[in-house]
Amino acid sequence: MIVDRQGRRFRNLRVSLTAACNYACSYCVPDGKRLVAAQDELSAEAMVRGVAYLIEAAGIERLRITGGEPLVSPKLDHFLREVARLGLQDISLTSNGQLLARKLPLLLECGIKRINVSLDTLDPDAFKRVARGGDLPTVLQGLEEARAAGLKIKINMVPLRGQNHEQVLPLLDYCLERGFELRFIELMRMGHLARDGASFQQQFYGMADLLENVASRYEYIQAAAPVDATALRYEIPGHGFFGVIANESVPFCRTCSRLRLSSTGWLHGCLSSSNRHYVGDLFDKPRHQALPALQRLLMKALADKQDIAFAGGTTIMKIIGG
Ligand code: SAM
Repeated sequence: MIVDRQGRRFRNLRVSLTAACNYACSYCVPDGKRLVAAQDELSAEAMVRGVAYLIEAAGIERLRITGGEPLVSPKLDHFLREVARLGLQDISLTSNGQLLARKLPLLLECGIKRINVSLDTLDPDAFKRVARGGDLPTVLQGLEEARAAGLKIKINMVPLRGQNHEQVLPLLDYCLERGFELRFIELMRMGHLARDGASFQQQFYGMADLLENVASRYEYIQAAAPVDATALRYEIPGHGFFGVIANESVPFCRTCSRLRLSSTGWLHGCLSSSNRHYVGDLFDKPRHQALPALQRLLMKALADKQDIAFAGGTTIMKIIGG
């Protein structure tokens, strides 16, 4: 097992199935340009082999399928069916929910039990401004159907000052009423925001403001979370739970166990590092050739992790897999 001097190792793999997305969220991509699939994206078969090799070489236990938008990818069906047979402890998915109702039968058939859906506002106009694609009623309908089907649902919200921060309480109410766990994600200095510090500062709505906002309506207490969890978890007794991924205010690099695989076959050991390691060619090789080479690259990827705090990175989240 590859472990660094801080005792960190890779346990959680995030696979970006495609860089393509049907949204162009303002904090994720600049200029409202939707991203299309890269020409050199790996096939579903190669990605499944890659996941199997990474389970062996790195000790991956949990898989999250992300993107881009995983539900727009034609690879989803094959990929999901095959990774479901690899004996992972958990397989989950992060989506914007636009195609959730349509893909729900497939998710259920493949044994998916929990999903994270990104939803930044319940206000249709603000939704158009932030997501720059899709439509709110379809997402809400998909969420109702997923809930009725028994999926465990977390909602990801990136609060942005002046754009959707007044939606913190409406979204929290919406989630608590439905048994969804709301995750507030502090804005990260990724992509264009890593280059434009003024825009980042202007929009950043941090954990202190957020918790003050929540406290104006609810009493909450800290709740337990796994050691390598990225979110701080809180309970609102009698109502439910919410979490904060406070990459700026309470960095979690010391316990980070995440590894990311891009849709074009690059490993990223850290969101905050511009280093990446090409492994796509190894997934076409037999196991005995691929694993030793993969292990050497995994050591490099692990060394890319920040010691303490997230500093940002110029790569767009949709490319690395948010
Ligand atoms: N399309 C899917 C979705 O919308 O959830 C998966 C990909 S998206 C890149 C994954 C997550 O990254 C989303 O929850 C999104 O809000 C988050 N994200 C993207 N850019 C971010 C940024 N600059 N700061 C914080 N979160 C970001």
